[in-house]
Amino acid sequence: MIPVLDLKKQIAPIREELDAAIKKVIDNANFILGKEVRDFENEITKYAGVKYAIGVCNGTDAIKLALLASGIKSGDGVICPAFTYYATAGAIASMGARPIFADIGLDTYNISIEAIEKALEHKKKMNISAIIPVHLYGACADMDNILKIAKKHKLKVIEDTAQAFGAEYKGRKAGTIGDCGAVSFFPGKNLGAFGDAGMVLTNNRIIDEKLRILRNQGNKDKYYHLLLGYNNRMDSIQAAVLNVKLKYMDNWNRKRHENAQYFNRQLKGLKVKAPFVPIYSTHIYHQYVLRLEPSSSSLIEHLKSRGIDARVYYPLPLHLQKCFKYLRYKKGEFPNSEKASKETFSIPVYPDLTAKELDYIVGAIKEFLR
Ligand SMILES: *Cc1c(COP(=O)(O)O)cnc(C)c1O
Repeated sequence: MIPVLDLKKQIAPIREELDAAIKKVIDNANFILGKEVRDFENEITKYAGVKYAIGVCNGTDAIKLALLASGIKSGDGVICPAFTYYATAGAIASMGARPIFADIGLDTYNISIEAIEKALEHKKKMNISAIIPVHLYGACADMDNILKIAKKHKLKVIEDTAQAFGAEYKGRKAGTIGDCGAVSFFPGKNLGAFGDAGMVLTNNRIIDEKLRILRNQGNKDKYYHLLLGYNNRMDSIQAAVLNVKLKYMDNWNRKRHENAQYFNRQLKGLKVKAPFVPIYSTHIYHQYVLRLEPSSSSLIEHLKSRGIDARVYYPLPLHLQKCFKYLRYKKGEFPNSEKASKETFSIPVYPDLTAKELDYIVGAIKEFLR
């Protein structure tokens, strides 16, 4: 079986370094927001070219905290794509705001500018105060146009950078362009911890200050609670692991890119549509996503029968999920999102794939399309 991701293969060559970093945390016994968290936050600011990086417990709460620290209030509307992982909209709803869905472009699978304008027509009925573009699969959304609309309508911009940390938009790191960027270090992400972890990036000093208070029970000074905060802190062990892995991330992403280029070349001219990379963005291939009209399901079945873990991210768009029924969206309202959920599928692209495995995957796709 060729899995979607083989973390054991990633860990093995750097195992001693990781063990030593974890041992140090145990020796110091400062397990939450310890020195390792501060060190990792510093390394991230240098890597991403951003003023502030605030370590938190996961990517979902990074989005929630970024919204709160940017002044978004319960009852506000927050625009996000209908085609993304649940957590983007889940984070909005978790702080009492209302997800306002917008359709995606079928080339990039990211939020479409026309769809944002359409979603803003709700503005007459409610107070839309933010937008969350998602850099889905590892390539950036159309940030300049998003920032332009945001400025015009006075919206805060929170970048969901869970799948694209390390990607660049016109030479700047994803997550550093809007008011805040939310990063996830879920183990399966391109930079993954040994458990849950996340981070908020910002260049705004006031937002940074607020985030540090919000993530830690609203504490400014211990036992004096300034704001209604949360237990959303980062663990020292996760920071220690991430600090080791960060040094290797760009190389891993380069390998993913090479694998993607190989797939692109081999699948050229076939009926499957390869990923489109817009000129303003690089791609870190968190997922390598192909599209087959009118449905990818029998091709996925075929690949699974050949031992390849092909999957759909994501099989049901958010406006059709049961949990968002109260938002009263209808089937057919976001046709591109619905089309993408039927036609897309991802194949393994992780850095440790061998040339033989890459060939095997290509062969299995060709076998089906013949
Ligand atoms: C993974 C992910 C998140 C959530 O991150 P967690 O660390 O799992 O909470 C949010 N948005 C997107 C697009 C994701 O892929």
